[in-house]
Amino acid sequence: MTGTVAGPTAGGIRFDGVSVAYDGNTVLDRLHLTVEPGEVMALLGPSGSGKTTALRAVAGFVRPVSGRVLLGDRDVTALPPHRRGIGMVVQQYALFPHMRVRDNVAFGLKARKVDKPEITTRVAEALDLVGMSAYAARYPRELSGGQQQRVAIARALAVRPGVLLLDEPLSALDAQLRSGMLAELARLHRELPEVSILYVTHDQVEALTLADRIAVMDRARLQDCGTPQELYRTPRTRFTASFVGNANLLPVTAGSGSVSFAGHELELPIGEVAAGATATLCVRPHLVGLGDGPNALTGTVAEVQWRGSTHRLYADIDGHRVKADLRELREPPALGEKVTLHFAPEDAVLLPAVGPALQPAGGSHD
Ligand code: ADP
Repeated sequence: MTGTVAGPTAGGIRFDGVSVAYDGNTVLDRLHLTVEPGEVMALLGPSGSGKTTALRAVAGFVRPVSGRVLLGDRDVTALPPHRRGIGMVVQQYALFPHMRVRDNVAFGLKARKVDKPEITTRVAEALDLVGMSAYAARYPRELSGGQQQRVAIARALAVRPGVLLLDEPLSALDAQLRSGMLAELARLHRELPEVSILYVTHDQVEALTLADRIAVMDRARLQDCGTPQELYRTPRTRFTASFVGNANLLPVTAGSGSVSFAGHELELPIGEVAAGATATLCVRPHLVGLGDGPNALTGTVAEVQWRGSTHRLYADIDGHRVKADLRELREPPALGEKVTLHFAPEDAVLLPAVGPALQPAGGSHD
């Protein structure tokens, strides 16, 4: 490395109360979040929730109105992008069409005035990392979408960043390529375990697959943050429950030692819910069983959908829809038939009654 190369930024990323506003509109509201060194953090949320803005604040493309961005213990809030020592990959590859692959990958190194022999070594290394060495002399138009995205990743890695920012890197690819690239990214991370990755996506599968932790965003705010397992098993808000995985969200009222839902007394670990309080019961559809059992709910069959490996059954329980994903159901019940569903107490979580859940129009994961 020459003296002008931005140093490695190992040490993670810290958002310290970062707010961003456009024309007086707050689109990122006091974000506090730490990405540990070597951690993959997904920023997950619907379109317009502020994910890209948060990422661009780390890259240096937007200036926060308040708060600080730290890389390791360096406050980079006032630094221009090229002084931050980060790599970034965006959705549309953004390769230079008139440059060969090797020159695209060398671009950031030339801009940083790295010595020529060092550039040659690093370009070869980066292309090797993404399996694109054989394509060094090609132009972007001679590559598939997936290959172009690999080159974009190689270009970001060539500067040996301590922080890699990925903004919906797979969304321009078709489903099959996406799953291949997802595995590639997981492999890359294993090969570069010291690099912190901030990964913006609206796709929960990408977040659940890749991330060590997921930060859930909605309407400019961080709603929840935890490991994929934590968010899935014990979401803290209605929004997280409906955005990470699929959920039944049922209105319940607490009694003393039990809760009631639509005239059914349920046995649940109710924790600190005060008697008489209303809450939301969250239970995952695949944890709802057919037939009698604990927490039995009786109603009628409103809809049955065959989904290949499961049947999705919607039951009408006293005016509330409850969905169950049932495996190995030979003979699905008929519409209008009386039906009993049940779930184990330990599979239910009580959430605050208020707060939005994701509406189907917003890209539900039904
Ligand atoms: P996400 O990545 O979650 O889809 P963004 O961070 O891109 O969301 O955008 C958050 C909000 O900020 C949106 O309402 C968007 O319209 C607005 N926004 C983003 N960039 C600009 C900009 N350059 N000027 C004005 N508004 C913007």
